[in-house]
Amino acid sequence: MPLPTLVRWALAALVLSSPAVAAAQQAKPLDPANMDTTCSACENFYQYANGGWIGRSTIPGDRPMWGSFHELQDQNFAALRQVLDQAAANRRSASDPNLRKLGLFYGSCMDSARVEQAGLRPLAGELGRIAAVRTRPQVQSAMARLQQRQVNPGFLFHSTPDAKQSGRTIAEISQAGLGMPDRDYYLKPDSASETLRQEYVAHVGRMLRLAGEDSASAARSGGAVMTMETALAKASMTLEAQRDPEAIYHLTDIADLRRAAPAIVWPAYFKDRGVAVPAQVNLAQPDFIRALDSLLASAPVADWRAYLRWHLLAASAPALSSAFAEESFRFNSTVLQGVKEMQPRWRRCLEATDNAVGEILGQAYVRKHFTPDAKTRALEMVRNIQAEFRGRLGALTWMSPATKAKAYRKLDAIGNKIGYPERWRDYSRLELQDQPYVLNLHRANAFEARRDLAKVNRPTDRSEWGMTPPTVNASYNPLFNHITFPAGIMQPPFFDPKADDAVNYGGMGAVIGHEITHGFDDEGRQFDAEGNLSGWWDSSDTRAFSGRAQVLERQAGGFVAVDTMRVNGKLTLGENIADLGGLLIAHGAYRRSLEGKSEPAPIEGLTGDQRFFLAWAQIWRSTIRPEFARMLVTVDPHGPAAYRTNGPVSNIPAFAQAFGCKAGEPMARKESERVQIW
Ligand SMILES: [Zn+2]
Repeated sequence: MPLPTLVRWALAALVLSSPAVAAAQQAKPLDPANMDTTCSACENFYQYANGGWIGRSTIPGDRPMWGSFHELQDQNFAALRQVLDQAAANRRSASDPNLRKLGLFYGSCMDSARVEQAGLRPLAGELGRIAAVRTRPQVQSAMARLQQRQVNPGFLFHSTPDAKQSGRTIAEISQAGLGMPDRDYYLKPDSASETLRQEYVAHVGRMLRLAGEDSASAARSGGAVMTMETALAKASMTLEAQRDPEAIYHLTDIADLRRAAPAIVWPAYFKDRGVAVPAQVNLAQPDFIRALDSLLASAPVADWRAYLRWHLLAASAPALSSAFAEESFRFNSTVLQGVKEMQPRWRRCLEATDNAVGEILGQAYVRKHFTPDAKTRALEMVRNIQAEFRGRLGALTWMSPATKAKAYRKLDAIGNKIGYPERWRDYSRLELQDQPYVLNLHRANAFEARRDLAKVNRPTDRSEWGMTPPTVNASYNPLFNHITFPAGIMQPPFFDPKADDAVNYGGMGAVIGHEITHGFDDEGRQFDAEGNLSGWWDSSDTRAFSGRAQVLERQAGGFVAVDTMRVNGKLTLGENIADLGGLLIAHGAYRRSLEGKSEPAPIEGLTGDQRFFLAWAQIWRSTIRPEFARMLVTVDPHGPAAYRTNGPVSNIPAFAQAFGCKAGEPMARKESERVQIW
């Protein structure tokens, strides 16, 4: 299940080169130089708060967007790079096996001479197996083998907590197998989408030619891949349909799985994946697996070979020699996201290392860059925000006392993951070697696939983290009823121990409020205190909630994201509920923190309330390439930065009051048009 997070876009490349420089340039928690006071706060608050910064900022050539998240990520990366350089230098001599693995992985990635010299040879064995496929059972077996390396042709077979009994972990089969970011890319009829599809087919052909196919064969294979993936796209559920947790829950006995997908020899499949035949699986999208099954039964085996070869190459290309890496970059980053140049090698390798062995890298990171004091401060803030939410729940006029009682229970049961895991992941069974990088990448992927499937049929381990410690992000997991704030985000501009409370509540406080509110958004509210999907709301409460949510959905749908593309109000509903609720709750908690004190004196001419809202706006400062903006409108459940700033404040009377906006101005909706849920 895709988990709602604060931001989900890929964070990437280089500006700072050492932690010393990073510290010197650490962002001010609230920087008046970022503002554009020629714009009225009541006209366009995002521009007012960030216009100065936007005017002087350019997106680095190797990034699809640039903003406060990326600036902070760069600082974290500069610190991590030092750790990795040292680990790579000591990879043969380190006595700590984890540090040796860290060094082997990163070191093999950085060894560009070896990567170039090896070319495609490290994949010869895997490509040979695919070339030898002649029968449908062999197609299935080759597919399972790739899936075991986290190349995901066809579908995804993985573990998940059972949504209706979250204390146990079960196996799940879900849709996958597309080479472009979403089903819409295959199905939308507009000419821009048509052009992208032509680019994609050409890209597949180029990659296959690089791998040795002649032009005619590569062109044929490209067409076959497109046909296959279009069929899968048609059978795929949309992202917004998947926001309904009931719609992706179909606990299925193995006998029924065989009936749903008779062409797949399931016992052989499970054996290939190294797991015992499970009693049940969750078929997240039954129509998809039926369509895949019929393709397995009917599409020519030669087409399947092309499709499997393509997916192996596409997943491995960034780890192969430059011809492959550059072609992968050209389509995925330049065509799809508008990025001009590749990130420096160390950054690509750092991200891959964070992805592969992030809880080894994270240990080294938090030792140097996270203090118990930061954790204490964050916990205190979480408690204040929770108390404020509790108070607001009590005051709601649209929710019944019975539902409120259960909501309190859920709120009180929310678990906090702050900084880094209490128990680190065990990497002892991960085997890396001094060998070409792509082989270590496949080893790490296979380790992760096995680790994931080993959880099936076991009690759910709620202590597990879904984000690595240096990550600049935060999340709520509805199945755990947990919020997560990695060490990486607990720094300026989100949280600054030296800043005034207004700024910390508008930044980190609103982020905490956002994540807690996810437990009660259109999706999260369907899960109870234990993380079980259960109808704990009575129907009149559900109606009242949905009516309010629909207003927010319509508001979002009126906002132009890029060109003529509007925000998808349904897809972004959960995030928009969380942004509005999180900001309201954080503001309430800020006001509560002032009780019994006098109003703080203005700082740099700005009142406490003004600084609170400006802090929220300034964490969203960013510039984005239009290509990437178009991609995010389609695939990202979060709205664009300007909307995340202006959408919530336009519904909050305290904002209008703080900046003297009159009802009916763009940032101050009339009372009849305002929406408030929490
Ligand atoms: Zn979120």
